[in-house]
Amino acid sequence: MNNFSDLRVNGDWIISLRGDKNKVDPVKPYGYLVEKERTISGKVEDTAVIFLTNSECQFQCLMCDLWKNTTDEPVPPGSIPGQIRWALNRLPSVKHLKLYNSGSFFDKMAIPEIDYKPIASLTEDFETLIVESHPRLINQACLRFKSMLKPELQVAIGLETIHPEVLPLLNKKMNLEDFEKAVHFLKDHGISTRAFVLLKPPFLTESEGVYWAQRSIDFAFECGVECCAVIPTRPGNGAMDYLLGEGRFSVPSVDALGEVLEYGIQSGAGRVFADVWDIEKFSDCKKCIDQKKNRLTEMNLSQKIVSRILCEYCGK
Ligand SMILES: [Zn+2]
Repeated sequence: MNNFSDLRVNGDWIISLRGDKNKVDPVKPYGYLVEKERTISGKVEDTAVIFLTNSECQFQCLMCDLWKNTTDEPVPPGSIPGQIRWALNRLPSVKHLKLYNSGSFFDKMAIPEIDYKPIASLTEDFETLIVESHPRLINQACLRFKSMLKPELQVAIGLETIHPEVLPLLNKKMNLEDFEKAVHFLKDHGISTRAFVLLKPPFLTESEGVYWAQRSIDFAFECGVECCAVIPTRPGNGAMDYLLGEGRFSVPSVDALGEVLEYGIQSGAGRVFADVWDIEKFSDCKKCIDQKKNRLTEMNLSQKIVSRILCEYCGK
């Protein structure tokens, strides 16, 4: 682990390093797609994902780049249901839906509660609905939303890392107790949780990155989450590029991601996924990256270990 005692990570500093936002339109989501996911029942099924255009999150996390596709002002009531309708009209009919809003679904400045009912009615044909939230924004509003829903609700919460020194430096303004409390509260009310775990946040070496991702998966399952998604930490938001230049962050490798995924699946505590989006950025070798990506995808979908690939070009 490298020294960071001189570093004053706070929201102003993180914001000062940012580049420009992308141009977004509050009547349309900024993205939508269909991906395959292994469901709780063990079947591999299509899941629609809608990336809602929303106002910027109230937290400025060190590693986050989701602010790029946000509005400066809160979006008006009706905007989020309108965006969901817009995307559903263009998506094939599938059973599972993820609504990601570049922040917290239960942040009232992001999605006003008056929108819950129309969102519930738009999503009534789905079996599963997944939304994301900061653990400190998990409260009675989640239960009011759940009570309107037909699909099973799952809330995705960023645990990020349980490293005692790195977690506070992420400026997420949460501690492990907040995470545990949120998971317990949701579980007590019949709502399952998926944890986002960062692979190799800044300040850690590759092997420390693997170690702490594994410990973070253990902690998440001990708290009672149903599923973990491991996300390789990436540059691109300004602050992370600064740390990269300073040698305090380096990009994790696809092999480290494979190692953490193997560990998670072998733990048998619940579904564990590796985020393979943009995975090419996590390898220097063009010869084996496609095979390695396919292997991770196969493991995501089967939740079984697939033999490692040894590349004769890069030796990894
Ligand atoms: Zn290779």
